[in-house]
Amino acid sequence: MRAKGHAGMALLITFAILSLLRLTSMESIITALLTVAAVTIPDIDIKLEIKHRKYTHNILAALILGLILALIYHPLGWYIGFTAGFLAVMIHALGDLFTIMPFAPLWPFYRKEISLKWFRYDNPIANNAFLTLGVAMFFTYFLFIYTDTGYMLIDVVREIIRILTTS
Ligand SMILES: [Zn+2]
Repeated sequence: MRAKGHAGMALLITFAILSLLRLTSMESIITALLTVAAVTIPDIDIKLEIKHRKYTHNILAALILGLILALIYHPLGWYIGFTAGFLAVMIHALGDLFTIMPFAPLWPFYRKEISLKWFRYDNPIANNAFLTLGVAMFFTYFLFIYTDTGYMLIDVVREIIRILTTS
C-alpha cells in the first residue's frame, strides 16, 4: 500500500480503538498519533535496497521498532513508544496483506508467505478510501469525546430514518 493508505489505516484503527475503549487521556492520543507517524517506516527497505517486505514487515520488526521508540520516547513513558512502534509495523503489514506481493507477517514464528491479492499496492481507490476513512474516524473520535456533535449527528440520522420509514 502507498504511504497515504497506510496512514489512513493507522488513523482508522488507532482512533477506532480509542473510541471503542473510550480512551481520552493525552497518553492514549499521543500513542495513536505516534503510531500514525511511524506507520510508513517498514518501507525503509525500499530506500535501503534490501529485499522488500522481508526484514521490516513482520512481528519481529514490530518488537524491534517498539523497543527503539520506547528508548527514544521514554520520557513520555516507555510503553507509549513501545505500543506505537509495535502497532505501526503490524498495521503496516496488515495493509500490505491486502495487496499482491506475498510476505511473512508473523516471521520468525510462522514462516508462510501470504497475501490476499485484493488490489495492487498503488490502487488509487483503495488508498484513497483508507485515507478518507482514517481522517473521518479521527474527527469522529474528537466529535464524540469532546463535543455533543456526535450525539447530535445520531439524532439527525434517527430523524431521517424515522421520516423515511413513516412516509
Ligand atoms: Zn510495505
